[in-house]
Amino acid sequence: MERRPFGILPNGKQAFLYTISGGTLTAEISDFGATLVRLYVPDKQGVLADVVLGFDDANDYLASTTYFGATVGRNANRIRGASFSLGGESVQLTPNENGHSHHSGPDSYAFRLWKVERQGKNKIVFSLHSPHKDQGFPGNADIRVTYALEETNTLAITYEAVSDRDTVFNLTNHSYFNLAGHQSPELAMGQTLQLQAAYFTPSDAQGVPTGELRSVMGTPMDFRVPKVVGQDIDEDYESLRLQAGYDHNFRIDANPCAVLCDPVSGRKMEITTDCPGIHCYCGNFFWDEQGKDGVIYCRRGGIALETQYFPDAVHQPKWPQPIVKAGTHYRSQTKYTFR
Ligand code: BGC
Repeated sequence: MERRPFGILPNGKQAFLYTISGGTLTAEISDFGATLVRLYVPDKQGVLADVVLGFDDANDYLASTTYFGATVGRNANRIRGASFSLGGESVQLTPNENGHSHHSGPDSYAFRLWKVERQGKNKIVFSLHSPHKDQGFPGNADIRVTYALEETNTLAITYEAVSDRDTVFNLTNHSYFNLAGHQSPELAMGQTLQLQAAYFTPSDAQGVPTGELRSVMGTPMDFRVPKVVGQDIDEDYESLRLQAGYDHNFRIDANPCAVLCDPVSGRKMEITTDCPGIHCYCGNFFWDEQGKDGVIYCRRGGIALETQYFPDAVHQPKWPQPIVKAGTHYRSQTKYTFR
């Protein structure tokens, strides 16, 4: 098992970093947060670059609210008022942002040490037991996240879970991509993005969807034709002003739902998922984070593309629901293919 130490946590436990390889890709993943720390991808000349943002030590992740590369759960994104009702019972979560739940509160799965179930050359499986009322969610849950590098230059992340009560499962990976390489944060906004999404869910000033599903047509939210990410990000459009740039959920119409392309290196990434939504967040809220290898990540130095249920779906009955019945197996998969 190829692994190396990745920091000693405040509780005295040792975090590790595991390496897997497949096709032309190599990934380094930590058991802390089941976090993707590094992902090496070749360009058109075969030159490798690490295309995700991250830190050098598990403790840096613990001290940050960027969620770089982390597995976020039990529910990714926001829940208004940190409460909702499920099967007639009220579920109370811990508010951690303006009275709302964000990424499941202060004790997100992103900040826990996961167990390594097994590791092969191109695959690693992490597991986490999340007891009844953990973060406030009902049900004793067993969760598994598998990272696999396939021969097709694909990173496949698979989420599986089961609970003994009806509960919410809405897990995502929170990687921020920069296909020019994480060491060139100033190039991130120059990459082109295409989203197969004709609608998005506008949010209020606190980032919680209002319930509206709005057409992207004629707005800066339209990525149906590939567009430079930074081109319209500061347009005078209410939804962009409220979120200080792109920090929005899009309704996926088709797969690949997202294609990100770096014009300089030629690296291209296609995302395919079974999730109904993709949240695009351009790092509007971090300034000069000290990242891996001494690199300083400037504001908007990466693009997070988080596949998930729509934020606050538990309060919007018309939207696909992240509710999983007791004893029913939840499985979701997102693939990132590089060309
Ligand atoms: C949210 C952002 C937040 C970021 C880091 C994203 O999923 O939408 O508003 O700043 O996570 O916490």
